[in-house]
Amino acid sequence: MSDRVLPRVAYFSMEYGLESDFKIYAGGLGILAGDYLKGAKDHDYPIVGIGILWKQGYTDQLVDEDGRPYDAYKNHRYEFLKDTGVKVKVRIRQRDVWCKVWLVDCFGNAPLYLLDTDLPENEDRWITGQLYGWFGEERIAQEMVLGIGGVRALRALGVEVDVYHFNEGHAVFAAFELIREKMEKGMGFEEAVRATREEVVFTTHTPVKEGNESHYLDRLMYMGANHGLTLEQLVRLGGAPFNMTVAALRLSRISNAVAQLHAETANKMWEGVEGRSEIIGITNAIHLPTWVDERMLRAAGGAGDLWEIHMENKRALIASVKERTGVELDPDALLIGFSRRAAPYKRSDLIFTDPKVIDPLLKARKVQIVFSGKAHPLDDTGKGIVANLVKMTRKYPGSVVFLENYDMRIGRMLTRGADVWLNNPRRPLEASGTSGMKAAMNGVLNLSTLDGWWPEACRHGVNGWQFGNGFTSPNVEEHDAHDARALYRVLTEEVIPTYYEHRGKWVEMMRQSILTTKDRFDVKRMLEEYYERMYQK
Ligand SMILES: *Cc1c(COP(=O)(O)O)cnc(C)c1O
Repeated sequence: MSDRVLPRVAYFSMEYGLESDFKIYAGGLGILAGDYLKGAKDHDYPIVGIGILWKQGYTDQLVDEDGRPYDAYKNHRYEFLKDTGVKVKVRIRQRDVWCKVWLVDCFGNAPLYLLDTDLPENEDRWITGQLYGWFGEERIAQEMVLGIGGVRALRALGVEVDVYHFNEGHAVFAAFELIREKMEKGMGFEEAVRATREEVVFTTHTPVKEGNESHYLDRLMYMGANHGLTLEQLVRLGGAPFNMTVAALRLSRISNAVAQLHAETANKMWEGVEGRSEIIGITNAIHLPTWVDERMLRAAGGAGDLWEIHMENKRALIASVKERTGVELDPDALLIGFSRRAAPYKRSDLIFTDPKVIDPLLKARKVQIVFSGKAHPLDDTGKGIVANLVKMTRKYPGSVVFLENYDMRIGRMLTRGADVWLNNPRRPLEASGTSGMKAAMNGVLNLSTLDGWWPEACRHGVNGWQFGNGFTSPNVEEHDAHDARALYRVLTEEVIPTYYEHRGKWVEMMRQSILTTKDRFDVKRMLEEYYERMYQK
C-alpha cells in the first residue's frame, strides 16, 4: 500500500482509552479507539481522532459496606494537553456554545483533538462534564459538540479530510454539518446527502437493540440538533423516533461490524432499513505494546520459559489483589479472570448457577475467580449484578474476589495474570470483545461461548476452549441452563484436569494461544482492512 496516496481520515469517537488515568474512556468502545490511534501512529497512517475532553470522565465506581456499588466523580486536570488556540462555536438550545480544541499526542497516538466546553464564556459549561452521564438532552448536546463541533474544529485547524469515520452512531451529527456545508454551497438536500455519504464510513457496535440510541424528534428540533433540516428530512434519515444507528447506516457509503458473526447479526438486525450501507465484518484488534507482555511473545517463539514469565505476571496480579482487597490468592491454584461491564447478557454469575458443582471447587480452592467491572451509573439492573458478585466474594472468601473501579490498569493486570479468561455472553449479543484477545496473546487461555471474535480464533483444546457449541435460544432460561451445563462440563473435564495434571499440555496451549492470535488480532491488520475495504474507494 506504501506507494499509493492514502485517504486522510478523521475518526470520531465519544471516548478514547489511551492511558489508564486519562479518564476519557468508559469501556471497550474507547479501548478500541485508543488502540486504533496508537496503531495509526505506529504504522504511519494519515489519521486524526476527534473526541471530547471529559472533565469528570466516566464514573469511579466503588463498593460500599453493604456491597452495593456507588458512583463518584471528580474533576480531572491534565498537564499534557496542548492548546491549539482554536475555538469553534456550536448552537445548542438556541445558545452559542464555544468549544475549545485541545491536542493530545503524547501516548504514542496519532493526533487526537478534544473539544471542551468548560469555558467562562459559556452558560453550558457542563456539556463536556460526564461521559455517558445524565439524560437525553445532555447526551444530544454532547453529540452535537462531538459531531458538529468536530467538523468545525477540523476546518479551523486546517486538517484536510477525505473520509469521516464514525465510531458508533454518536457522531452522526457530523454528517448533518457536512450536509449543511454542501447546502450552503447551493446543493439540494438529496444531493447533499448523496455527496456526504460518499465521505462517511461507519462502525456499528452493539447487537443489543436498546444499545442503539434513539431520540424524540421534537427534542432534536428543540435542541437545534436538526441543524437546519426539516422534520421530514430527519425522519427520512433516522426514522421516528430518530435512531442514531439507522441514520449513520443511511449516511455512510459502507459500514462495518466488529467481528464476522456480528456482521451476520447486524445485517439481519438492520435488514429492514431502506437505503442503508452494506455492513461488512472487520474484526476488532488490539495494540500489542499496550496490552501484551513482550516477553511472552518472545517466549512463544522459543526464547524463554512461558510458564516462568506467566507465573511472574500471576504473582503480580495476586499481590495487587492482596493490596486492594486483603485477600491472599494461591499462586498454585487455577485462577480465572472475568471483567466485563455489568450487563445481563454477559451473565457474570453464570458460573454460580449450580452450587452443587461450583461450591466444592471454590471451597477446596481448586478454582479461584477474580471479577471486575462497572455498571452504568443509571443502570440499576447492572448495579444489582455487581452487588451479586460482591455477595459471592462473601460467600466464598479467599477464592472469589471483586476488584472495584475497573480501568485499563486492572484490565491489563487481569489479562496477564489470570490462567483462564472466562467469557460467557449469550450468543450472539457480544459484538467482539477485545479483552479475550489481550488474554490470548498473554498466554491466558480463553474459556468462552462462541460469540464475538472467539468463533474466528477458537481451536478447542488447542489454543483455548469453547463451550455451548454455538447454542442459542429465544428462551433465556433454557439458553442459560444449557450454557451453564456446558461450562461446567468443559471446566471440570478439560480445564481443571489439564491445569493440575498435564502442565506440559497447558503450556503448549498457552503457546498456541499466543501464536494463533498475535498477528490476526493485531491492530495493524485491522487498519489494513479499514484502508482496503472501507477508506479506499
Ligand atoms: C479491554 C478492555 C475492555 C474491552 O473488553 P471487552 O472484552 O469488550 O469487555 C473494556 N474495559 C477495559 C478497561 C479494558 O481494558
